Amino acid sequence: MSLPACEVIRPHTLDEALNALACHGPGVQMVAGGTDLIPSMKQGLFAPQVLLDLKGIRELDFIRFDPEQGLAIGALARITTIVDSPLIARRFPVLHEAAKTIASPLLRNMGTLGGNLCLDTRCLYYNQSGFWRESLGGCIKKDGTVCHVAPGSRMCWAAFSGDTAPALLALGATVQLASPGGSREVPLAEFYINDGLARMAKAHDEIVTAVRVPASSAGWSGAYKKLRIRQSIDYPLAASRRSGPRRHSHRQAAANFGVHHGIPAPHGPGLCAQSAQRALAGQPIGARLLIMAGCNDIAPRKNLCREGDKA
Ligand SMILES: Cc1cc2nc3c(=O)[nH]c(=O)nc-3n(C[C@H](O)[C@H](O)[C@H](O)COP(=O)(O)OP(=O)(O)OC[C@H]3O[C@@H](n4cnc5c(N)ncnc54)[C@H](O)[C@@H]3O)c2cc1C
Ligand code: SF4
Repeated sequence: MSLPACEVIRPHTLDEALNALACHGPGVQMVAGGTDLIPSMKQGLFAPQVLLDLKGIRELDFIRFDPEQGLAIGALARITTIVDSPLIARRFPVLHEAAKTIASPLLRNMGTLGGNLCLDTRCLYYNQSGFWRESLGGCIKKDGTVCHVAPGSRMCWAAFSGDTAPALLALGATVQLASPGGSREVPLAEFYINDGLARMAKAHDEIVTAVRVPASSAGWSGAYKKLRIRQSIDYPLAASRRSGPRRHSHRQAAANFGVHHGIPAPHGPGLCAQSAQRALAGQPIGARLLIMAGCNDIAPRKNLCREGDKA
């Protein structure tokens, strides 16, 4: 499998990147670490005319903390930088724990926070070579009209598979976006769409520039449990994170949840995470309880597992 030919633009500032987006329109696709996008391009899932390589934009590679403003992480911060940050390990342990489980050391060195939040949704019938997909006639997400996971469905059920989003949801994070038309900030809880095709409430020409976590979430304790087939290196099939004020860390009266479990959007405090919060209220926190509460309805799903796979 080889990469399709395309033009590559390497901006050094955010303004240069925004100009390129304005000039080239919908034929442009952004790439950061490339650990997700490049293999997908080799599989023929994307064939952009222009690749906008964001890695040279140094101004988006930062981690800052201010006791009043909270935490800000640039979209180009690498996952390794997050894992190695003593500040994040001490003040935002749930994010630190989640980042540590992503892929392998090599992929964490290349992968960025922005790319992790904007990961394409995954599915056994989609993340395959063109030859493999053609044998089924494609599917709704790519080159077809049927969903092989849910043949009666008109939507795509490919699953969200990033590890940092549920942790950031539990911490009440917001996402900063910039486009040629201006910039805006949205709660992460409103950023994802439960549709494997649309997946994010983000315009094609919007760059994720940073993530902010409120100062009030600093020092929260947290716990994280991830279900995957290969323990050494694998995307999550499901994951559950809880975070709450440290004084409640044992018998948890108030905690925020971030959950994803084989569907297109991760959930913050709300939706299925509410049942997790109810299940945990007043309970001593332990990994077993957490996974039971947070991932109640995880059964290995047809979009991520083959029959007989054991997580
Ligand atoms: C074998 C393997 C195992 C993996 N395991 C895990 C895992 O356990 N957990 C996990 O979370 N991930 C996993 N990944 C996926 C990936 O390595 C990480 O999620 C990584 O953080 C993605 O970041 P990136 O910068 O490489 O993204 P890229 O591949 O560069 O981009 C991913 C997507 O985000 C978009 N994008 C990138 N940056 C921006 C931005 N600033 N603004 C707007 N859009 C943007 C791109 O257009 C693309 O659609 C795995 C990958 C592989 C190959
Ligand atoms: S969930 Fe259905 S439409 Fe979506 S990628 Fe999988 S098979 Fe295709």
